[in-house]
Amino acid sequence: MNHNSKLPNVKTSVFTIMSDLAYKHNAINLSQGFPDFECDTQLQQMVTKAMESGCNQYAPMEGAMELRKEISKKIELLHNSFYNPKDEITVTAGATQAIFTAISAFVRHNDEVIIFKPAYDCYEPSIELNGGKVVPIQLEAPYFKTDWNIVKQHISSKTKMIVINNPHNPSGTIFSEEDLLELQKVTEGTNILILSDEVYEHIVFDGATHQSVSRFPDLKKRSFVTASFGKTFHVTGWKIGYCCAPKELMDEFRKVHEFNVFSCHHPTQIALAEYMKEPSRYLELNQFYQEKRDLFLSLIKNSKFKFIPCQGTYFQGLDYSEITNESDVDFAIKLVLEHGLASIPISEFNVNNLDNKILRFCFAKKEETIKRAAEILNRI
Ligand code: PMP
Ligand code: GLN
Repeated sequence: MNHNSKLPNVKTSVFTIMSDLAYKHNAINLSQGFPDFECDTQLQQMVTKAMESGCNQYAPMEGAMELRKEISKKIELLHNSFYNPKDEITVTAGATQAIFTAISAFVRHNDEVIIFKPAYDCYEPSIELNGGKVVPIQLEAPYFKTDWNIVKQHISSKTKMIVINNPHNPSGTIFSEEDLLELQKVTEGTNILILSDEVYEHIVFDGATHQSVSRFPDLKKRSFVTASFGKTFHVTGWKIGYCCAPKELMDEFRKVHEFNVFSCHHPTQIALAEYMKEPSRYLELNQFYQEKRDLFLSLIKNSKFKFIPCQGTYFQGLDYSEITNESDVDFAIKLVLEHGLASIPISEFNVNNLDNKILRFCFAKKEETIKRAAEILNRI
């Protein structure tokens, strides 16, 4: 049979390649973003309790009401912004599905979607599968700041959506209030939708406040916010996330969600709802990860790597240009094979694989893992 691939340029993801390589060579894996420590045992017990009490059949299509209510309360507490649990919040199979569903519900053939590079890898295939055209804007290392005049120049009559990711994976930058006000200004009076990927919403550092689009009424009315419990409660394998949007947008989102997954794993939703009742469980995350970032950086401060400023996420970019001129892919592979440490080469996420000689290291790891990784980096 002859197949004409709908995604001819998609290869195995760099996360899979690097994690497999790390496993094969028994390397410390700071590549794919996931914790190497367990989630709270109380949360595990809550899932067991939910299973034992019979929550084992389909959850409601929109998500368990208990969980939608807790999500709504959290957003109101943090951002003073109300989403109605009834028709403005949907529980999804991770943020990945929320992103795919929001794009599928709105992007049509030849619609343009602006994304910022380096970009997380699921945006482009989702846009292309729906016939949309990706309009990339390359951000410049080492600060990866967004120039809103350049964004304005990329907007056309065909622009359907702008995808933002705040805090930003892989660069670790965050948007300030001014950034969001600029975004509000460039989209004012248009029909452009915003897809705001906020999976690292609870991981911002140095006293900064996470600037969710939901804080800005004129942005909120045109926005989808996507989030992930995987990042917040150290359970990336559960693949539970959510999407919030005003009712008229959420109505369309749910038409796709219903036939994409229909509903998500029920007992974990019940458990997460109970777990979220105590806000400290997500509020303490900033401090928890800031300590890990600071430990990692203090241990390698005398190494030959230069730090990329990390304001949020659990990823630290390290510039290795003082060590070698090799490409970041070659250097990342060499780090695994010769030094036993896996990372992610940032060029994979850039326009034309622009190589800034930066590797991304995930510090969502136990103290001992961070120490062992730092010893290796100090020897290079
Ligand atoms: N967006 C970004 C920026 C991510 O780093 C990830 C990776 N977890 C996702 C979305 C996907 O989240 P989930 O695992 O909940 O699907
Ligand atoms: N979000 C994770 C990261 O950025 C990877 C998730 C995946 O493997 N797709 O590393």
